[in-house]
Amino acid sequence: MTDRRAAVALQALKDGNRRFVEGTLARITDHDDAVRKELSAGQSPLAVVVSCSDSRVAPSVVFDQRLGDLFTVRVAGNVTPLEVVGSIEFAVSQLGTRLVVVIGHTGCGAIAATLDEVERPSDSLTPALRSLIDRIRPAVEHARADSPAGGILDGSERRRVLDQAMRENVHVAVRELGSESELLARMLRDDGLVIIGAEYSLETGVVDFLE
Ligand SMILES: [Zn+2]
Repeated sequence: MTDRRAAVALQALKDGNRRFVEGTLARITDHDDAVRKELSAGQSPLAVVVSCSDSRVAPSVVFDQRLGDLFTVRVAGNVTPLEVVGSIEFAVSQLGTRLVVVIGHTGCGAIAATLDEVERPSDSLTPALRSLIDRIRPAVEHARADSPAGGILDGSERRRVLDQAMRENVHVAVRELGSESELLARMLRDDGLVIIGAEYSLETGVVDFLE
């Protein structure tokens, strides 16, 4: 049995991002009474998008999608604590969605704050912020490992580490979703589910899928 749902959804996101970059938004502006009435009866979103909370990375805009198209989970640093996993499990098991995209972005403040914490540990972080940073820390420490130990990076080396950490943080999330959720692992194996990473460029608006 071939399940085309993930492939169709991925193509729709790529097409939508191209419209966003070209400035020819079409679907996000397609809202009227009829659309709302139709959606009030139920939802069958084409994709789950896990993105950073950053105000510049709004998935519906970046992918030019309308109400009902994207089941969006947003948390600073696009990390995947249990409640995020539960949200994804709900969407794929109850709403028929077969594509999950975890999207990181350039210039991520959560990644930068984590690098700052790695380089200059602070004793004034709140427990909640520390929990968030600890989730991002492995990717940042791994990306930082190729640079001179100790001290504070700046300039192009800091940018390199931040970009690499952003990508690794996405890979960590994709990997963990597939290994730590039994439901998602089973659907990846047997039920046409696809989980992929992506990165969004604040500068160009382009989303690159890390396929
Ligand atoms: Zn961010």
